[in-house]
Amino acid sequence: MCGFNSFLLRLPVLKKAKTILFGGSFDPIHNGHLRVARDVFCQLNAGQLIFVPVRRSPHKTDSPVDGKHRVQMIRQATQNDPSFSVSECELNRPAPSYTLDTINFFREQLGEGTDLHWLIGADQLNDFDKWYKVSELLDACRVTVMYRAGYPKPEFNRFMGVLRADQVEKLARDVVQTPLIDISSTQIRLELANGQFPSDLLPQAVIEYIRLHNLYGFTG
Ligand code: ATP
Repeated sequence: MCGFNSFLLRLPVLKKAKTILFGGSFDPIHNGHLRVARDVFCQLNAGQLIFVPVRRSPHKTDSPVDGKHRVQMIRQATQNDPSFSVSECELNRPAPSYTLDTINFFREQLGEGTDLHWLIGADQLNDFDKWYKVSELLDACRVTVMYRAGYPKPEFNRFMGVLRADQVEKLARDVVQTPLIDISSTQIRLELANGQFPSDLLPQAVIEYIRLHNLYGFTG
């Protein structure tokens, strides 16, 4: 997935293993999620990437499609990526799903020898300082911010005074410059409900799944 050069870079095992945790609604998972996930996985030279579908985000008001379907769509979309998997840990906990609880869960599972990266798009920065126990979260893992089409380049000076200076510096150091893929689940849900067939936005297997289970009002 990462090409020959990256493969060579991956050989030495001197550094800490890296696990990328990619949380979100994935309602549904789309080609934007997949492109940036593969890009970050290669740039970080990570060992694994785990999708973590949220039960109910503290930051969103709409209820997502049932977690079982979202997990299955992620499985369909990542079936050819052996380093990608999906965790149901947030779906198995009562809502709302706090990221810090998820990081603590994975820390216990994977131990101190693993660098945990919590991956977010730049759109998530709007209210990032209001996240549940954000300071504790920043000390417990590496929050890795990606670029996102339609949003400004990640910039953290506005958090000075709210977060500790070393936390702001850590955020800035961990930014990953990902390709700008202008796709959102909102746009896809709208297109599906209007009977459009967003074949360039979703993996074929996900479209088939949506059709089979009549999700999002899709009747195509
Ligand atoms: P919605 O439109 O329903 O809000 P979304 O497309 O933003 O959904 P989510 O599942 O909410 O998708 O996103 C999960 C994570 O992936 C978030 O951190 C978000 O910033 C990031 N993300 C989603 N789409 C993209 C994209 N096209 N490029 C970069 N990051 C993305």
